[in-house]
Amino acid sequence: MGKKLFIPFLIVVLLFLMGQKRMERVYLIPIGEVDERVLEGLKTSLREKFHLEVVIGEALPKPDYAYNRRRRQYHSSPILDNLSRNIPSGAYRVLGITEWDLYVPNLNFVFGQAQMGGRTALISLARLREEFWGRRPNEKLLAERTLKEAVHELGHTLGLEHCPNPKCVMHFSNSLQDTDIKDSWFCPECEIRR
Ligand SMILES: [Zn+2]
Ligand SMILES: [Zn+2]
Repeated sequence: MGKKLFIPFLIVVLLFLMGQKRMERVYLIPIGEVDERVLEGLKTSLREKFHLEVVIGEALPKPDYAYNRRRRQYHSSPILDNLSRNIPSGAYRVLGITEWDLYVPNLNFVFGQAQMGGRTALISLARLREEFWGRRPNEKLLAERTLKEAVHELGHTLGLEHCPNPKCVMHFSNSLQDTDIKDSWFCPECEIRR
């Protein structure tokens, strides 16, 4: 390549790489008021795990439209739909985070929900907090559980289904105990599939 062409070539390559990088941005979207320290901690740990750029996006309002008065919980599906309608431009994946307790009609509660193979996922911090169960707050435990649930739901957006391995992050959590048993990353089989 001649000297004259090298600089334009370099610029094209740099622009391409910058574009790629922007496409790989994961947005954390607070839904209602969310603990700032948990958000910052999750941002750092997700970046380390996935090697992607992670940013905290603009918060969405408290999801009153999804509140079920009888259950005193929030229906996660309409919140996920709302997230899908508000995907920031250039987002690779969007993870909504809320402090409110979530449910889907056939279950007592859900820790989160995701669009299988899509771009949006959602987690709730409510039941990950020790204080929900009448115990003393534990920040470290909360951070670990939040990371596991976040990686799990993002795993669904990558097309992964539930895994029978209880140590795998894609194992279905029926209870908080299941969450505490599993690792914060994919087992070798899920890792290959993602
Ligand atoms: Zn799941
Ligand atoms: Zn697995």
